[in-house]
Amino acid sequence: MSATILLVEDEPGIQELVKFNLQQAGHAVIGALNAEQALSTIRETLPDLILLDWMLPGMSGIELAKRIRADSRTSSVPIIMLTARGEEQDKIAGLDTGADDYVTKPFSPRELIARIKALLRRRAPQMTEDAVETGGLRLDPVSHRVTGNDQPLQLGPTEFRLLHYLMTHPERVYSRAQLLDQVWGDHVFVEERTVDVHIRRLRRALEPTRHDYLIQTVRGAGYRFSTKR
Ligand code: CA
Repeated sequence: MSATILLVEDEPGIQELVKFNLQQAGHAVIGALNAEQALSTIRETLPDLILLDWMLPGMSGIELAKRIRADSRTSSVPIIMLTARGEEQDKIAGLDTGADDYVTKPFSPRELIARIKALLRRRAPQMTEDAVETGGLRLDPVSHRVTGNDQPLQLGPTEFRLLHYLMTHPERVYSRAQLLDQVWGDHVFVEERTVDVHIRRLRRALEPTRHDYLIQTVRGAGYRFSTKR
Protein backbone atom coordinates (compact mmCIF):
# COMPACT_ATOMS: atom_id res chain seq x y z
CA MET A 1 0.00 0.00 0.00
CA SER A 2 1.46 3.33 -1.02
CA ALA A 3 -0.14 6.59 0.08
CA THR A 4 0.73 10.27 -0.09
CA ILE A 5 1.00 11.39 3.53
CA LEU A 6 1.17 14.95 4.76
CA LEU A 7 3.25 15.13 7.94
CA VAL A 8 2.69 18.29 9.99
CA GLU A 9 5.35 18.37 12.71
CA ASP A 10 7.46 21.30 13.92
CA GLU A 11 10.29 19.26 15.44
CA PRO A 12 12.80 18.57 12.65
CA GLY A 13 14.17 15.47 14.41
CA ILE A 14 10.78 13.78 14.62
CA GLN A 15 9.88 15.02 11.14
CA GLU A 16 13.00 13.31 9.71
CA LEU A 17 12.54 10.09 11.64
CA VAL A 18 8.88 9.67 10.73
CA LYS A 19 9.52 10.65 7.12
CA PHE A 20 12.30 8.07 6.79
CA ASN A 21 10.18 5.28 8.23
CA LEU A 22 7.12 6.10 6.14
CA GLN A 23 9.22 6.21 2.98
CA GLN A 24 10.74 2.84 3.90
CA ALA A 25 7.17 1.53 4.14
CA GLY A 26 6.54 2.72 0.57
CA HIS A 27 4.68 5.96 1.24
CA ALA A 28 5.33 9.36 -0.29
CA VAL A 29 5.73 12.01 2.40
CA ILE A 30 5.18 15.76 2.19
CA GLY A 31 6.50 17.60 5.23
CA ALA A 32 5.07 20.79 6.76
CA LEU A 33 6.53 22.54 9.80
CA ASN A 34 3.37 24.42 10.75
CA ALA A 35 -0.34 24.71 10.02
CA GLU A 36 0.05 27.49 7.45
CA GLN A 37 2.48 25.41 5.40
CA ALA A 38 0.14 22.44 5.68
CA LEU A 39 -2.82 24.46 4.41
CA SER A 40 -0.93 25.78 1.42
CA THR A 41 0.21 22.24 0.56
CA ILE A 42 -3.35 20.92 0.83
CA ARG A 43 -4.58 23.66 -1.50
CA GLU A 44 -2.44 22.12 -4.23
CA THR A 45 -2.42 18.42 -3.45
CA LEU A 46 -4.96 16.51 -1.45
CA PRO A 47 -3.03 13.95 0.64
CA ASP A 48 -4.39 10.44 1.27
CA LEU A 49 -3.79 10.87 4.99
CA ILE A 50 -2.58 13.57 7.40
CA LEU A 51 -0.32 13.01 10.40
CA LEU A 52 -0.85 16.00 12.59
CA ASP A 53 1.18 17.07 15.60
CA TRP A 54 -0.94 18.53 18.38
CA MET A 55 1.49 21.19 19.58
CA LEU A 56 2.47 23.45 16.72
CA PRO A 57 3.71 27.03 16.80
CA GLY A 58 0.94 29.41 15.70
CA MET A 59 -2.24 27.59 14.76
CA SER A 60 -2.49 24.37 16.83
CA GLY A 61 -2.99 20.90 15.42
CA ILE A 62 -6.52 20.85 16.84
CA GLU A 63 -7.40 24.11 15.14
CA LEU A 64 -5.98 22.83 11.87
CA ALA A 65 -7.96 19.57 12.19
CA LYS A 66 -11.13 21.64 12.64
CA ARG A 67 -10.36 23.70 9.53
CA ILE A 68 -9.72 20.54 7.49
CA ARG A 69 -12.98 18.97 8.65
CA ALA A 70 -14.98 22.14 7.98
CA ASP A 71 -13.99 22.33 4.29
CA SER A 72 -16.01 19.98 2.06
CA ARG A 73 -13.00 19.39 -0.18
CA THR A 74 -10.85 18.09 2.67
CA SER A 75 -13.44 16.89 5.17
CA SER A 76 -12.99 13.19 4.46
CA VAL A 77 -9.17 13.04 4.53
CA PRO A 78 -8.15 10.65 7.33
CA ILE A 79 -6.26 12.33 10.18
CA ILE A 80 -4.02 10.79 12.84
CA MET A 81 -3.09 13.13 15.70
CA LEU A 82 0.36 12.89 17.28
CA THR A 83 0.73 14.04 20.84
CA ALA A 84 2.58 13.77 24.12
CA ARG A 85 2.10 10.79 26.39
CA GLY A 86 -0.96 10.15 28.45
CA GLU A 87 -2.98 13.31 28.04
CA GLU A 88 -6.36 11.65 28.25
CA GLN A 89 -8.27 14.93 28.00
CA ASP A 90 -6.34 15.80 24.86
CA LYS A 91 -7.23 12.46 23.37
CA ILE A 92 -10.91 13.05 23.89
CA ALA A 93 -10.69 16.61 22.52
CA GLY A 94 -8.71 15.34 19.52
CA LEU A 95 -11.26 12.73 18.59
CA ASP A 96 -13.99 15.32 19.08
CA THR A 97 -12.47 17.61 16.48
CA GLY A 98 -12.62 14.85 13.94
CA ALA A 99 -9.26 13.10 14.14
CA ASP A 100 -9.71 9.42 13.18
CA ASP A 101 -6.98 8.08 15.39
CA TYR A 102 -4.48 9.14 17.95
CA VAL A 103 -0.87 8.14 18.53
CA THR A 104 1.06 9.17 21.64
CA LYS A 105 4.72 10.16 21.60
CA PRO A 106 7.09 8.48 21.83
CA PHE A 107 5.70 5.93 19.40
CA SER A 108 7.42 3.15 17.51
CA PRO A 109 7.54 3.61 13.74
CA ARG A 110 6.09 0.12 13.38
CA GLU A 111 3.09 1.02 15.45
CA LEU A 112 2.53 4.21 13.48
CA ILE A 113 2.75 2.36 10.16
CA ALA A 114 0.29 -0.27 11.38
CA ARG A 115 -2.16 2.45 12.44
CA ILE A 116 -1.82 4.17 9.08
CA LYS A 117 -2.52 0.91 7.29
CA ALA A 118 -5.58 0.18 9.41
CA LEU A 119 -6.96 3.67 8.89
CA LEU A 120 -6.43 3.63 5.12
CA ARG A 121 -8.10 0.22 4.90
CA ARG A 122 -11.10 1.68 6.70
CA ARG A 123 -11.26 5.07 5.06
CA ALA A 124 -9.52 4.75 1.70
CA PRO A 125 -10.24 1.31 0.20
CA GLN A 126 -8.71 2.36 -3.13
CA MET A 127 -5.32 2.42 -1.34
CA THR A 128 -5.48 -1.24 -0.37
CA GLU A 129 -4.54 -4.18 -2.53
CA ASP A 130 -7.83 -6.02 -2.12
CA ALA A 131 -9.43 -7.09 -5.38
CA VAL A 132 -12.84 -5.56 -6.09
CA GLU A 133 -15.65 -7.12 -8.11
CA THR A 134 -18.99 -5.76 -9.24
CA GLY A 135 -21.41 -7.38 -11.66
CA GLY A 136 -18.74 -9.56 -13.29
CA LEU A 137 -16.22 -6.73 -13.58
CA ARG A 138 -13.13 -7.49 -11.53
CA LEU A 139 -10.11 -5.33 -10.73
CA ASP A 140 -7.06 -6.78 -9.03
CA PRO A 141 -4.53 -4.19 -7.77
CA VAL A 142 -1.88 -6.85 -7.07
CA SER A 143 -1.67 -8.23 -10.61
CA HIS A 144 -2.88 -4.91 -12.06
CA ARG A 145 -5.47 -6.76 -14.13
CA VAL A 146 -9.06 -6.00 -15.03
CA THR A 147 -11.41 -8.67 -16.30
CA GLY A 148 -15.02 -8.62 -17.46
CA ASN A 149 -16.72 -12.00 -17.08
CA ASP A 150 -13.19 -13.50 -16.81
CA GLN A 151 -12.15 -11.95 -20.11
CA PRO A 152 -9.07 -9.67 -19.87
CA LEU A 153 -9.69 -5.97 -20.55
CA GLN A 154 -6.97 -3.51 -21.52
CA LEU A 155 -6.79 -0.31 -19.48
CA GLY A 156 -4.22 2.48 -19.40
CA PRO A 157 -2.70 3.40 -16.01
CA THR A 158 -4.94 6.43 -15.45
CA GLU A 159 -8.07 4.51 -16.45
CA PHE A 160 -7.01 1.77 -14.04
CA ARG A 161 -6.71 4.20 -11.12
CA LEU A 162 -9.94 5.92 -12.07
CA LEU A 163 -11.82 2.61 -12.22
CA HIS A 164 -10.28 1.49 -8.93
CA TYR A 165 -11.42 4.66 -7.21
CA LEU A 166 -14.92 4.47 -8.65
CA MET A 167 -15.34 0.76 -7.87
CA THR A 168 -14.31 1.29 -4.25
CA HIS A 169 -16.75 4.23 -3.96
CA PRO A 170 -19.89 3.00 -5.72
CA GLU A 171 -23.28 4.72 -5.82
CA ARG A 172 -21.80 8.15 -5.16
CA VAL A 173 -21.55 11.06 -7.54
CA TYR A 174 -18.12 12.66 -7.95
CA SER A 175 -17.56 16.00 -9.63
CA ARG A 176 -14.66 16.42 -12.03
CA ALA A 177 -12.81 18.49 -9.41
CA GLN A 178 -13.27 15.74 -6.81
CA LEU A 179 -11.97 13.09 -9.20
CA LEU A 180 -8.95 15.24 -10.04
CA ASP A 181 -8.22 15.51 -6.32
CA GLN A 182 -8.74 11.83 -5.60
CA VAL A 183 -7.34 10.14 -8.68
CA TRP A 184 -4.82 12.62 -10.06
CA GLY A 185 -3.96 14.19 -6.69
CA ASP A 186 -4.08 17.56 -8.39
CA HIS A 187 -6.98 19.88 -8.97
CA VAL A 188 -4.95 23.00 -9.70
CA PHE A 189 -2.83 22.25 -12.72
CA VAL A 190 -4.89 19.59 -14.47
CA GLU A 191 -7.90 20.75 -16.45
CA GLU A 192 -11.34 19.34 -15.67
CA ARG A 193 -11.90 18.20 -19.24
CA THR A 194 -9.00 15.75 -18.70
CA VAL A 195 -11.42 13.77 -16.57
CA ASP A 196 -13.90 13.54 -19.46
CA VAL A 197 -11.16 12.27 -21.78
CA HIS A 198 -10.20 9.47 -19.39
CA ILE A 199 -13.83 8.58 -18.62
CA ARG A 200 -14.37 8.17 -22.38
CA ARG A 201 -11.29 5.92 -22.65
CA LEU A 202 -12.40 3.93 -19.63
CA ARG A 203 -15.84 3.30 -21.10
CA ARG A 204 -14.31 2.23 -24.38
CA ALA A 205 -12.03 -0.21 -22.51
CA LEU A 206 -15.05 -1.74 -20.75
CA GLU A 207 -17.16 -2.04 -23.91
CA PRO A 208 -15.98 -5.53 -25.02
CA THR A 209 -17.82 -7.09 -22.07
CA ARG A 210 -20.53 -4.39 -21.90
CA HIS A 211 -19.45 -3.11 -18.51
CA ASP A 212 -19.26 0.47 -19.77
CA TYR A 213 -22.79 1.09 -18.43
CA LEU A 214 -21.31 1.02 -14.90
CA ILE A 215 -19.63 4.39 -15.55
CA GLN A 216 -22.54 6.79 -15.51
CA THR A 217 -22.76 10.49 -16.29
CA VAL A 218 -24.82 12.49 -13.84
CA ARG A 219 -25.80 15.62 -15.69
CA GLY A 220 -24.58 18.81 -14.08
CA ALA A 221 -22.89 16.87 -11.25
CA GLY A 222 -20.21 14.49 -12.51
CA TYR A 223 -19.79 10.72 -12.67
CA ARG A 224 -21.00 7.74 -10.71
CA PHE A 225 -20.20 4.02 -10.59
CA SER A 226 -23.44 2.11 -10.33
CA THR A 227 -25.01 -1.20 -11.30
CA LYS A 228 -28.44 0.45 -11.43
CA ARG A 229 -29.23 1.57 -14.94
CA1 CA B 1 5.27 19.93 18.26
